[in-house]
Amino acid sequence: MRGEKEHLIGTTVGIDLGGTKLLAIRLEDGEIVEERRSSNPGVADQLAAAVVEAVTEVMTAEVEAIGVGVAGLVQWPEGIFVWGPHVAGTAVPLRAELEAFFGLPALVDNDANGAAWAEHAVGAGRGYDNMLLVTLGTGIGGAAIVDGRLYRGRSFAGEWGHMMFERNGHRCDCGKRGCWETVASGPALVRLAREFVFQNPDGALAHRLGEARFTGEDVTRAADEGDETARGLVAQVGADLGRGLCNLIAVLDPEIIVVGGGLGSVGEALLGPARRVAADALHGGSHRGLPPIVVAELGPAAGAAGAAMMAQDYAAGRLVLDGVV
Ligand SMILES: [Zn+2]
Repeated sequence: MRGEKEHLIGTTVGIDLGGTKLLAIRLEDGEIVEERRSSNPGVADQLAAAVVEAVTEVMTAEVEAIGVGVAGLVQWPEGIFVWGPHVAGTAVPLRAELEAFFGLPALVDNDANGAAWAEHAVGAGRGYDNMLLVTLGTGIGGAAIVDGRLYRGRSFAGEWGHMMFERNGHRCDCGKRGCWETVASGPALVRLAREFVFQNPDGALAHRLGEARFTGEDVTRAADEGDETARGLVAQVGADLGRGLCNLIAVLDPEIIVVGGGLGSVGEALLGPARRVAADALHGGSHRGLPPIVVAELGPAAGAAGAAMMAQDYAAGRLVLDGVV
């Protein structure tokens, strides 16, 4: 990674804990020197043990601190995993368990906060003190950097994916209906493609995708390869992405929006329509213009790397966790 190296001196472990996957990295002076993948057992009372095991896999005597990002609500700074629709367990005191087991400073945060911190420090948001991250995958995650710091609210800020978007809309993984991520994420693209294929069973897209289960990647690949229908479906998701981005800009007026995650890497086929719709819908849009809406630079390890970087700041005394229990 590039960036301000002096800010990154040290050795830390970073973990990204998702619904099914666990990524562990060791960061040495800003470089990822080891990377291990394992699976989240998906059992509530094994969650802490799984994280301890993942940390152990990349641990060395030089490690000064541990940072963990979890896909869900995390109480900050206590580092208690409160709840998440994809991660089994509630009220798991991960930070306390890690500090007790390893005897090292540890912090536990939302996974998108880690990714935002990394993109802000050394990625696409470098040099911008007011940045929003929007991650597009099975849902929409997010985080806000405001005046150079992560904006946390009471702890849980940045859950853009669950903004109320449609009255009586599609059911969301969170249990509610009509959340933004039900229309502007990977599964939304798959749903649109399924509906189209069902109504047009003899069309080119049906022929290409077949009747078997297909993924959002299959649809974006079809779009990349010039399938006009697939391009139209990606553009439709992009338009709903743009509507939500417009709302975020109206509220927070960021200097830049960084779009990450698997669907974010689709690039212009998605972001072009998003920009057009956001520009058209934005309050005073023709007088103020849009902030840049760009693709994230750091790839799938950004969450783990950002958690490790925050842990580095914590170990060096640059990040003080107020009210630590
Ligand atoms: Zn939701």
